Amino acid sequence: MSRKKVCIFCGAKIGSSKEILIEVDRLLNALVQADFDLVYGGGRDGIMGRIAEHFLKNDKNVIGIRPEKLIIDEPPNEDLTQLIAVNDMYERKAMMIEMSDLFIALPGGIGTLDEILEVYTHVKLGYIEKLCAVLNINGFFDGLDTLLSRMVKDGFLLPHEKEILVVTNSADELMSKVN
Ligand code: AMP
Repeated sequence: MSRKKVCIFCGAKIGSSKEILIEVDRLLNALVQADFDLVYGGGRDGIMGRIAEHFLKNDKNVIGIRPEKLIIDEPPNEDLTQLIAVNDMYERKAMMIEMSDLFIALPGGIGTLDEILEVYTHVKLGYIEKLCAVLNINGFFDGLDTLLSRMVKDGFLLPHEKEILVVTNSADELMSKVN
């Protein structure tokens, strides 16, 4: 039987916070120990590169899904188990959603935000039933959580719909939702 696949969305940049990287590494250790394979955006740099290296180093399969344009702009990581080229960002997200068992957003930029919100919307609308979580290291995602609370308060989001996006403050807390 093939291993479960975790899809991780995260920064194409490394960011400026050491604390973020420490907690990210904690989560990566826990995920490889729990024997997950990785699905991600296929990048070489930033937190993306770091997560791919971590899974490969621990003999897990790493599947990168990348639009042709990005492959041309920036050579991909040659060590990936599989690199899937897709036409555009929409096709990429659809494929990630289909092939993965759960979704985690680490700190990142607007690409990360776009991807996790897409998954969240799919779960909310009932297209899929999979875990969708953010690692809220040092309150990185507090702003998003505050916006979702405001949506509930103003009647645009139901309380149970807000709960679908699992906001966790540590790698341990996140792993307790995974198992
Ligand atoms: P960002 O959060 O804006 O750094 O974007 C990161 C997310 O967008 C990743 O999860 C990727 O899926 C996608 N992405 C952004 N930049 C790249 C890149 N250079 N190569 C591959 N994927 C990227």
